[in-house]
Amino acid sequence: MMRQFFVDLESRRDGSHLVHVNGCMLMPERDQCRFLGRHASHKDAVADASTLFSGACACFYCNEDFWDDRSDAIPASIFSHITPLPADVPAGFRHLEPPR
Ligand SMILES: [Zn+2]
Repeated sequence: MMRQFFVDLESRRDGSHLVHVNGCMLMPERDQCRFLGRHASHKDAVADASTLFSGACACFYCNEDFWDDRSDAIPASIFSHITPLPADVPAGFRHLEPPR
C-alpha cells in the first residue's frame, strides 16, 4: 500500500531526521517537515530522504517494521538516555538486606 511520507526538517539531538507516515503522532507541524511523496514502506521513504539528509531514519513510532526488527529501523543512540542496569548490585545497597 502506498502511503504519504514526510521527513523532519529539524534534526534530533543525535543528528537524525525522522521519516514519518502522514498523520504520525510524532510528526512535526506541516511547515517543519518536507513531503517525500508516496512510498510503499519506510525503507523506500528513508532512501528518498537520505538524498536530503544524511541522518534520515525511520520514525520508531509509525514504522511498524520497527516492532518486528528494530536493528535497522532505529539508531541505538535513541536509547542512550536509558541508564543500563548495573551488572552487579552496588555495595551501597547491601545495607538494604534484611537483618539476620
Ligand atoms: Zn512517525
